[in-house]
Amino acid sequence: MIGFFDPYYFLFIAPAFLLGMWAQMRIHTTYAQAQRLAAPLSGAAAARHILDSAGLTNVSIEQIPGHLSDHYDPRAKVLRLSPEVYSSRSLAAVGIAAHESGHALQDALGYAPLAIRNAVVPMANFGSGLGIFMVILGAIFSQVLIWVGIILFSAVVFFQVVNLPVEFNASTRARAQLVGLGIINQEELRYVSKVLNAAALTYVAATLQAILTLLYLVMRFSGSRD
Ligand SMILES: [Zn+2]
Repeated sequence: MIGFFDPYYFLFIAPAFLLGMWAQMRIHTTYAQAQRLAAPLSGAAAARHILDSAGLTNVSIEQIPGHLSDHYDPRAKVLRLSPEVYSSRSLAAVGIAAHESGHALQDALGYAPLAIRNAVVPMANFGSGLGIFMVILGAIFSQVLIWVGIILFSAVVFFQVVNLPVEFNASTRARAQLVGLGIINQEELRYVSKVLNAAALTYVAATLQAILTLLYLVMRFSGSRD
């Protein structure tokens, strides 16, 4: 069997799993550090400033519950910020708010990787659950189902790979906007960068895990049945 019952699978994806754990720890420590350092604006005010400076007065900013639940919704043209990021005047808050503003800027400029990523989301959601399920079914019933499952799961890998330039580019834009608009200085940028780099590392880990899972599925199930 595969998935949660197969210790070989866990061994196979262990590098990605460990990298993901380390990235989570880095986020935790860098965020806590940057949260203690004051910024001149709240996250919401910084985001508003960045959006307005780019002429994106139509993009609204809302507060949503949760911790690090911040995201930009390209369909509704809404930037949703967690309570801490929305209201606190810290380097952590302005850093994350600026990153999400970076996604709004990508959207407004028609940044291609973002458009591709958004188009792939439904397929990736479909493939992440059903892909593995089809492989398991296929292992019992038919080789054809295995390949259908593997192809479905490929959408997850494709999403994760396209997601990397989207995330790195949003952070690059965030850094440029924060310094360019005078919200933070070069010294403060170091702390913001630490948080954004830690967040980027979680996406690298997720991509690695998807790739290793796909490799595992192909190696274990593509041959003749036993
Ligand atoms: Zn992002």
